[in-house]
Amino acid sequence: MTNQITAPFSTATGKDIRVRFCPSPTGTPHVGLVRTALFNWAYARHTGGTFIFRIEDTDRSRVTDEYIAAAIDTLKWLGLNWDEGPEVGGPHGPYLQSQRLDIYAEWAARFIEQGDAYYCYCAPEELEARREAQKESGQAPGYDGKCRSISETDLARYQSEGREPVIRMRMPEGSTTFTDVIRGDCTFDHNFVPDFVLVRADGSPLYTLAVAVDDVLMEVTHILRGEDLLSSTPRQIRVYQAMGVKEADYPLFAHLPFVMGADNAKLSKRNGETSIAWYREQGFLPEALCNYLALLGWSPGDDRENLTLAELTELFTIERVNSNPARFDMKKLEAINGDKIRALTIDKFLEWSLPFLLKSKVISGTEAEIAVVKSALPIIQERIIKLSEIPPMLNFLFVKDFSVAEDEVSKISDEASQKILVTTLSKVEGLDTWNTKEIEEVLRGALIDEMGLKPRVAFSAIRIAVTGSHISPPLFESLELLGKERSLARIKAAISK
Ligand code: GLU
Repeated sequence: MTNQITAPFSTATGKDIRVRFCPSPTGTPHVGLVRTALFNWAYARHTGGTFIFRIEDTDRSRVTDEYIAAAIDTLKWLGLNWDEGPEVGGPHGPYLQSQRLDIYAEWAARFIEQGDAYYCYCAPEELEARREAQKESGQAPGYDGKCRSISETDLARYQSEGREPVIRMRMPEGSTTFTDVIRGDCTFDHNFVPDFVLVRADGSPLYTLAVAVDDVLMEVTHILRGEDLLSSTPRQIRVYQAMGVKEADYPLFAHLPFVMGADNAKLSKRNGETSIAWYREQGFLPEALCNYLALLGWSPGDDRENLTLAELTELFTIERVNSNPARFDMKKLEAINGDKIRALTIDKFLEWSLPFLLKSKVISGTEAEIAVVKSALPIIQERIIKLSEIPPMLNFLFVKDFSVAEDEVSKISDEASQKILVTTLSKVEGLDTWNTKEIEEVLRGALIDEMGLKPRVAFSAIRIAVTGSHISPPLFESLELLGKERSLARIKAAISK
C-alpha cells in the first residue's frame, strides 16, 4: 500500500471521466440514494467514462452485511451496472472501505508527520464544556485548537491517565473556494470549519478521511452527490491538499438538489414513500423508476417525460441539472410506469407479471396456468399502472370456489340487476362460438338496443357476477377467457342468489 502513498494519482480533468457511487449502507436503499446512483451512472455512460461503486462501511456499528447486499441488489435490479466495485473488482480495489483501513491509517500517520494533522487528547466532556462556553459567548461552536500545541507536561499527564488520542486535521486560517458544477462558486470561511477528526481514538477512520483518500486514489474526476454533503467539501479539499494533490487535479463537485415531498419538506418516510423495496413490491418497473428519478432535478431540455434508459444516457449532462429542489410527484411516476408497462412485449410483460401472481398465490405456476395468463395479459396491459394490480384482476380466472364478495352481492341482488342477468343468460346460452366479438354483439343488442340500458349499468351487473368485482379486465374479453361453461355457471349462481 505504501507505494500508493508516495505517488498519489492525478485526478486531472481531461483524463477519462471517473465517477463514483459510494453509499454508507446504514439502512434499506431509498429514493434519494438511487437518484444519486442514477445520475453518476448516466453521466459515466453518457461520456463513455467509468462508474465506480464503492461501499463506505467504516462505521460497522451502523452498516450491516444485509444493507450492503440490499444496495448491491438494488443497483442490479435498476440495471445500473458498474465498471469497478463489489463482485466485479477493478484496478483500485478493494472497493469496501472496511478492507482499506491500513491505507487510511498510513495517510493519517503521514499527515501527522507533515504537520497537517495532530493528536488531540481532549476528552468528550471537556469538548462539550468548551462548546457550551463558546455558545454562551456567541462564538461559532467547534474545536478550539487546544491540542495544536501540547506542552510536554500536559502530554505526560494525558498519557499517564491512559487517554487515547484522536487524530485531528489542522485547518489553516482563511477560506476554501471551489466551483460547484451545479451551484457555481462556493466559499467556506474557515472560522466555521474547525479542525476536524480524521481518526477516532479506537483507530477507525472517519468519513472525511476515507472518502477523500479513496476519491484521490481511485482517480475520481467528478463527485455527483446530494446537497447535504456540500458543507463537508472544504474538509475533503483540505485532505487533498495534505495528500499533495494539485488544485487543478481536484475532482469537480456537483451537488444535486434535494428531493422534496408534496409538502415541500425534504422527502422522507414521513411525507412520502422513500423505500425502493416498496416501489418494487408495488410493481414499478426499474426503467420507470429510473426514468422518473432522472427527472428529479434534471431535464432533457425539452418537455419529453418518457425516456428509455438509452435516451437518458444519450442526453444526460450535468449542465442540465437544476440547482432548485425537485418535488416528488407520485402521479407522474405512476403515469410513466403505466407507459412503460404498455410498451412491454407480451413475453416481457409475462416475465414481470409471474412473480406477482405466484407470490399472491393466484397461480401455482403450471404450464396451463401460464398459458392462460399469457392470453389474458393483452387485455389488461392498457388498464394497469402497477404490476401489483395484476393478481386481483386475474384472480377470477383461477379461483377454485368462486363466489361474489359479500359487499358486491348487494349490487346485483336488486330487481333490475336480476333482470339483466336473466336476459344475459338466455342470450348467451345459445351461442355456438364463444368469443369476444359474438358475446359483445349479442349482449349489446339485447341490453343496450332492446332494453335501452346504459352500458355502465348493464355490464356492471354481469361483470360482478362473473369476476366477483366491479373492477376487472374488459368484460367481453373476460367472458371469452373464462370460457362458456364457467361463465354460465357463475351467471346462474348470481341469479339464484
Ligand atoms: N458515503 C456517503 C453517504 O452515504 C456519501 C459520500 C459522498 O458521496 O461523498 O452519505
